[in-house]
Amino acid sequence: MDLAAPPSPLPDILRLRRHLYIGGEWTPPAGTDVIDVESPSTGDTVGQVPAGTAADVDAAVAAARAAFPGWAATAPAERSAHLDRLHTALAARADDLARTIAVEQGSPLKLATRVQVGLPLTVLRDHVALAARAPVEESIGNSLVVREPIGVVGAITPWNYPLHQVMAKVAAALAAGCTVVLKPSELTPLTAYLLFDAVAEAGLPPGVLNLVPGTGAVVGEALAGHPDVDLVSFTGSTATGTRIMRLAADRIARVALELGGKSANVILGDADLATAVRVGVGNALLNSGQTCTAWTRMLVHRDRYADALDLIAAAVAGYRLGDPFDPATRLGPLVSAAQAQRVRGHVDRALADGARLLVGGPDAPVPARGHFVAPTVFADVHPDSALAQEEVFGPVLAVIPFDDTDEAVAIANNSRYGLAGAVWSADTEAALAVARRLRTGAVDINGAPFNPLAPFGGYKQSGLGRELGTHGLAEFCEVKAIQR
Ligand code: NAD
Repeated sequence: MDLAAPPSPLPDILRLRRHLYIGGEWTPPAGTDVIDVESPSTGDTVGQVPAGTAADVDAAVAAARAAFPGWAATAPAERSAHLDRLHTALAARADDLARTIAVEQGSPLKLATRVQVGLPLTVLRDHVALAARAPVEESIGNSLVVREPIGVVGAITPWNYPLHQVMAKVAAALAAGCTVVLKPSELTPLTAYLLFDAVAEAGLPPGVLNLVPGTGAVVGEALAGHPDVDLVSFTGSTATGTRIMRLAADRIARVALELGGKSANVILGDADLATAVRVGVGNALLNSGQTCTAWTRMLVHRDRYADALDLIAAAVAGYRLGDPFDPATRLGPLVSAAQAQRVRGHVDRALADGARLLVGGPDAPVPARGHFVAPTVFADVHPDSALAQEEVFGPVLAVIPFDDTDEAVAIANNSRYGLAGAVWSADTEAALAVARRLRTGAVDINGAPFNPLAPFGGYKQSGLGRELGTHGLAEFCEVKAIQR
């Protein structure tokens, strides 16, 4: 096929892939269908991968099943050494990974390098250490309680952080002694291919980690519904998570679900307002708002509300949209035309619902090519309105005033989601008291940094289970009580 030149040249080997990775080999797919990979900043096709089928899933699951007893029995120190080799091979590809993500996902190169690639490398390195530790055992009365790897994992991942979402599952599953079949998002499969180049180089035992790219409707359904998959570990939308649970329910398979969010950033009256707004806007717009933990509802004490709106407008004005490879770019495109259209629909709906447009909106200028949506902020958003309730997954912030702390907590918890959140106050004890009241899986006080060893996951419809650190490892283990 004739590929359009991507915004920054990538070697063809990264762009035209013809095989799946099954049983430690680059393997031809059973079918002939392909998936074209698009650059969202130009709309051009820049790559192509096979569209896997149910037969490919069968072969990959069989390979993972065959590899499971050996990998599960491998000593922790040896599994750790394998992960260490994978880390070395992946780190050697860091630049190609960042450029690939900038091309196929649209992240500005700086973000792609620091977060999209830097974070998963940290997560993998953390799991080198976690894998080395023998599984936790405890005595309860006359019982010895042991943890064992759960078996074959079907990992299904989204496009927004195409390496991190994979690594959060795969590193923990492998560290725990599970074997894995990965189906990455059909929008960003080239990143997964680079990972598997590293897997091949690192020499993981055959079948321990397998790749079947393809659509959710074909490969995702086949993997989630496969009778020989013991755990389906999924990151993506709440709608697809619901479907995955249904598919797993028929055989009582485990599911781990990392789903959507509508997180609240609560700015109390005594907060350092300039910092809270600057960091809050940055968080809401990170990766063009395509971040599950984005603080997309900013709740501001009414005493500071007018000042906050001025600060928000000034902060957003500093975000330049453009080519991910231009160092001045702070916001890239949305991942696809469909995603941009969905986000514009949310903006139109908010206008129709009477929210006050503060910045951006449908008439704000955007680059002529690519799937760009201008960063958009609505003020005076009603806490029950669609904009305050629905995940937009784009650069759209809803600002809501409150009069006292109880009202702020009530508004923050008025959501079917509960993934992340933030509290700002000069009084850290007061902030901690609010954090304890939020029905959400994570809360950052006064801009505290992300901790990749802390449990990550959601309350309510934001998901089931936790990823990262020891809690993440536990997701991939069964628990056995041996009475003596
Ligand atoms: P999505 O649910 O459309 O797709 C996610 C993955 O599921 C893709 O690989 C897709 O091919 C697959 N899939 C789709 N339909 C399927 C089906 N019927 N059976 C099996 N697999 C299927 O989500 P998306 O658009 O790729 O990602 C955006 C969503 O992901 C947002 O809602 C966001 O909040 C969520 N997300 C959550 C987290 C988290 O950790 N909580 C992280 C990132 C993204």
